[in-house]
Amino acid sequence: MDGTMMDFPLTLTPMLERAGKLFPDVEIVTRLPDKSLHRHTFAEFHQRTRRLAAALEGAGLKRGERVATIMWNGYAHLEAYFAVPCSGGVLHTLNFRLHENDIAFIANHAEDRFLIVDDVLLPIFERIKDKVKFERVFVVPLSGAPIPEGLENYEDFLATGRADYAFPELKENEASGMCYTSGTTGRPKGVAYSHRAMVLHTFCVGLADTVGLTQRDVLMPVVPMFHANAWGLAHAAMMMGSKLAFPGPHMDAENILGLCESEQVTLAAGVPTIWIGILQALEADSGRWKLHPDLRSVVGGSALPEGMIRGFDRHGITTIHAWGMTEMTPIGTISRLKRGMEALSEDERYQARAKQGLAVPFVEMRVINDEGEAPWDGESMGELQVRGPWIASSYYNSEEGSDKWSADGWFGTGDVVTIDKEGYVKITDRTKDLIKSGGEWISSVDLENALMGHAGVREAAVIAVPHEKWTERPLAVVVAAEGAAPSAAELKEYLSQSFAKWWLPDNYEFVDEIPRTSTGKFLKTALREKFATRDWGA
Ligand code: ADP
Repeated sequence: MDGTMMDFPLTLTPMLERAGKLFPDVEIVTRLPDKSLHRHTFAEFHQRTRRLAAALEGAGLKRGERVATIMWNGYAHLEAYFAVPCSGGVLHTLNFRLHENDIAFIANHAEDRFLIVDDVLLPIFERIKDKVKFERVFVVPLSGAPIPEGLENYEDFLATGRADYAFPELKENEASGMCYTSGTTGRPKGVAYSHRAMVLHTFCVGLADTVGLTQRDVLMPVVPMFHANAWGLAHAAMMMGSKLAFPGPHMDAENILGLCESEQVTLAAGVPTIWIGILQALEADSGRWKLHPDLRSVVGGSALPEGMIRGFDRHGITTIHAWGMTEMTPIGTISRLKRGMEALSEDERYQARAKQGLAVPFVEMRVINDEGEAPWDGESMGELQVRGPWIASSYYNSEEGSDKWSADGWFGTGDVVTIDKEGYVKITDRTKDLIKSGGEWISSVDLENALMGHAGVREAAVIAVPHEKWTERPLAVVVAAEGAAPSAAELKEYLSQSFAKWWLPDNYEFVDEIPRTSTGKFLKTALREKFATRDWGA
């Protein structure tokens, strides 16, 4: 027999309406280009979002049509985050750090109809404008720079929308948003999120044993809002009624710590490369910022090295390691200690926290290798496959990449992992970054994490270089910490305390910086191009 419950669709609209009603005084703070702070309340946000939705409908936006954004993290992006999907449109956040040809390809592939762009990002629009076909472009006046002819002022457009606009009733499986993966191989591929997936993901983010966002929190998403729904955090802030503090275009350690101090941020989130700089600033002068005593930070997107967890603990900031993917809305695992693990030794606790963590509810996992499904023994490696209600079942309008889904409907993540008997996932590599030496796998991630735990190392990436005898050998590319000059011999000696001899990189390349992807991760393909062809000797 069926239950007797209402068939109430899971859409973003009730989240928005409730936040406007119950938390009208909660603030949304944005650092503007001139570094001053812009403040709105949830009540103002709610009203402006309604107007923007009405204006979009008035402009002829029909159900399922795409509205693109080229925007920093800030109040206007948040308005688009809700106005577009709640009016029946699909929000397409463009990653403006990509090459202009990729941005244009992505906007055209998604058939974006309108664009909302921050005025300070107009130079990016200028570079793509002849390659794309936006019908109308709305410019958010953040800096006050004149708006070029042919483009429209976002504020004027918003003002055309009625404040008493009623949001349409939507079905929960309608698309709410789109993101394209950066496409390190092949063309970028689109993921279309549904309202239902976003809502369920938002509930998950709120759980006390995952991110645990509450109404008392002040949230600072440093992760760009164009990157995988800002990890679902802006949605979660709306559901919980948390205050938001957006860094705008100012993503450097100085400005981020300044915002943490002035708004008393309790939860921040971003990729490890951002936190490297923040930790360094804290190490240089820890007393300078009066931070909230409960400040914690979700770190993901690439591996969070154990040394960084320890480093932030020294400053009273708890880092929570999370793993996810654009195809997963994005959260898949969070590393929190299970009951009883407090009794482990300090080293064991840190090792557990540095793993990618436990599958969040409703994300199911299995590890597949040549022998079939691998046991959860902490040793057997294989590709991680996942399924669940917020995991993509295909790419948008693309045959390419369809081989990532198995015949029985699981999504192959391309991450090589072990899962231990407690269920903690540990990523050892991405399939495309694996190092195979003498027929055995070496984990580049383990070596990188260890190197970044050395006091003289600021950043490290380990890549495979071809080798006549061993097929491949690891090469460590290292950025020294400020004022330090570690030698190759010293680093090798240091690593030999933790790794088998054949794992140790034979060569160390010291560089000023490691190139980054558009989402702030180490760009290993560039390192391979640069170093793999060199003759490293036998
Ligand atoms: P892009 O490839 O465009 O950066 P994603 O953000 O979707 O797109 O990247 C997802 C990938 O990032 C994962 O498959 C994994 O390889 C890596 N990743 C994400 N979080 C972590 C983490 N905590 N530790 C290690 N790798 C991670």
